[in-house]
Amino acid sequence: MNHTTRIRIRGIVQGVGFRPFVYRTAIKHDLTGYVLNCGRGVEIMVTGSDSEIERFLSGLQTKNPPLSKIYSIKTTRIPGKDFREFTIKTSKKHSGVGSSISPPDTGICDDCLQELFDPTNRRYLYPFTVCTNCGPRYTTVSDLPYDRENTTMIDFPLCGACNIEYRSPEDRRYHAQPTCCPACGPKMLLYDRKQELIEEGNDAIRAAAAHLDRGAIVAVKGDGGIHIAATATDDAALTTLRERLGRSGQPFAVMTEDMDAAKEFAVVMPIEEGLLSDCRTPIVLLEKSENYDLSEQISPFLHNIGVMLPYSPIHHLLFHYGTESAYVMTSANLPGLPMAISTKEAFSEMNGIVDYYLLHNRRIANRTDDSVVRVVGNSPSFIRRSRGYVPEPIELPFAVAPTIGVGAELQSAVTIADGRHAYISQYIGNTEKIETLKYHNEVVRHLEKLTGITPARYACDLHPLFNTTKYAEDVASGSDLPLVRVQHHHAHLASLMADNRLPPDARIIGIALDGVGYGTDGMVWGGEVMEADYHSFVRHASLKSQPMPGGDLAAYYPSRMVLGMLYGVLDERELHNLDLWFRYGEDERTVVLKQLERGANISHTTSMGRVLDAVSALLGICYHRSYEGEPTMKLESDARLGSDVNAPIIPVVVSGDVLDTSQILSGVYELMGRGRYSRADLAYAAEDALARGVADAALRAAAKTGIDVVGLSGGVAYNDHIVRRIRQVVEDSGCVFITHKRVPCGDGGVSLGQAVVAGIAGV
Ligand code: ZN
Ligand code: ZN
Ligand code: FE
Repeated sequence: MNHTTRIRIRGIVQGVGFRPFVYRTAIKHDLTGYVLNCGRGVEIMVTGSDSEIERFLSGLQTKNPPLSKIYSIKTTRIPGKDFREFTIKTSKKHSGVGSSISPPDTGICDDCLQELFDPTNRRYLYPFTVCTNCGPRYTTVSDLPYDRENTTMIDFPLCGACNIEYRSPEDRRYHAQPTCCPACGPKMLLYDRKQELIEEGNDAIRAAAAHLDRGAIVAVKGDGGIHIAATATDDAALTTLRERLGRSGQPFAVMTEDMDAAKEFAVVMPIEEGLLSDCRTPIVLLEKSENYDLSEQISPFLHNIGVMLPYSPIHHLLFHYGTESAYVMTSANLPGLPMAISTKEAFSEMNGIVDYYLLHNRRIANRTDDSVVRVVGNSPSFIRRSRGYVPEPIELPFAVAPTIGVGAELQSAVTIADGRHAYISQYIGNTEKIETLKYHNEVVRHLEKLTGITPARYACDLHPLFNTTKYAEDVASGSDLPLVRVQHHHAHLASLMADNRLPPDARIIGIALDGVGYGTDGMVWGGEVMEADYHSFVRHASLKSQPMPGGDLAAYYPSRMVLGMLYGVLDERELHNLDLWFRYGEDERTVVLKQLERGANISHTTSMGRVLDAVSALLGICYHRSYEGEPTMKLESDARLGSDVNAPIIPVVVSGDVLDTSQILSGVYELMGRGRYSRADLAYAAEDALARGVADAALRAAAKTGIDVVGLSGGVAYNDHIVRRIRQVVEDSGCVFITHKRVPCGDGGVSLGQAVVAGIAGV
């Protein structure tokens, strides 16, 4: 006896080969009916025997395509329906009520790669070769449902041969939205410095590779944006690039031809090898090996280097035509501005910076920077969660009201959450800049459209002057919706809790360590121990409030921080004799000491970032921050050469609710005076003391409250040494230690915390 069952599946099931998979599975089990994409997922109708439908359902869940993800399956028995055959129906019109999302971009799959280099294949050396299992997705989508007419591929009508593949359920390219071929698809274009077209098609890639190998700087358009490429061994080319870009020391990422090429200059641990070869192809921060032979200009004075493997066929072809096995591939953007994605932007922003432009005529619908991952304490930690991961949602441990979290200021991303799903956007950047703010606002609108979620509330940072705060105030009041202001470090910790799927009533002792966050007292916080839940927090302890002579200037010139932290600890003669560097020489030191004496032009901070900066300057490692995090990253590079065996122990003083960081810095100063310790050991000792200090403060709060889960968030949580030490102290005490898993611990994760705090209050 046959029955008909309607099956509704929610998840990442559109654009990942799910419908042909359903089709094949249905045919195998002798079922009739149909499958179609509908708003939030796919709808399937099947007629057949109960046992075959049962087996069909289990096949759907166990053999689903690699990129698909099933969140829920709902089955309903439908009386009196019958079908003659099984068909794949065209999509229901986008309901607008809420939709399934498009999948993230992935790198080219093995089947397509094989075709790319098969001389007998009609896509031989074709730079836009894709199939249902691979290629750009999110970066091409302008609307839902995920069908070709809602992607940038609408510009390229399918030719006869492609159309046959596209319509054959048995074909790997069945309904592969970005599919195309040399006859019907996009093509490469090479422009010279004068922005005149000089080559087309594969000749363009061949010529670009030759120019790169000769030391030229070339803009290369890929899937989610434009890179600036240069050879990775040519100091002169990279020095020129740094000058033209106005980026003096900020590290560049490198793309290598394959895994072996990466292993020639970097240490690749198995977990890192897994990340590098994953279809999401992030940039992975690797330790430089002893055989490191690339240019020192790539990541000057750092022990690590960002590496990724080719993901677009365009990249594979560059290596195919070129002679080098590694190219610098850094996002094509001016400092602080979004990456260029169109020919127009490339021509206006990269003019005078690049020598050639290797572009193509496939539009990019969503600008998406490369993701950056680093292994910290043996697990992957997102520095930037972007291409390859976005817009895949983070599953929440409870339902929230439809909420948009607009993020903080630097490293920003936005989150739109509804029910049990939170969609964190791609990396946006520094919203202090008006161009980036504009991009931020575009991302909010676009994410609303692509998720079909209509927000019922907004969440922003507590900082009244952030551009994102002002934006949230505008949109919330314009639509008469509530706006929830979430303290920065509370947002970090709520994000951490949601990332770890803690239940709605969970409470943790959270350690939030970063550069800047606006406190409830109007001060700059950044080294906090809090008792936190999803609704509120109690600040139990913090780093000592330290003066920042000249305000923000002290963040750029950490010698100022050193004087501030040691003022009143060392005597005047010692303060004058400290080996530091000031932009305006010794006169500046005198001015700073005067400011400290009078208490004039000084702000205060409890930031861990500023303390690490000060250690970096005191040890002579870094006196000027030319990019975000530079002094602390360089300190970390030095400290990793230090060790438990040789490094001295700096005692830690926690009095009441304050960790005395002046005392730790003066401890470093005193040890320097003894002349017995290397700079590496002193760097190690300082990081260690700070880690032990905050861990102690957290354990005191744990003992006082009876809470036995201690968590760590904030940008300092990328420091492997500090994380390991805090974890060890916490776990030795018998408490549970948690840190981030799927969400960045830096400000890229703040919008999730905002959305969760505001969203849980709205249900
Ligand atoms: Zn493929
Ligand atoms: Zn074609
Ligand atoms: Fe932060």
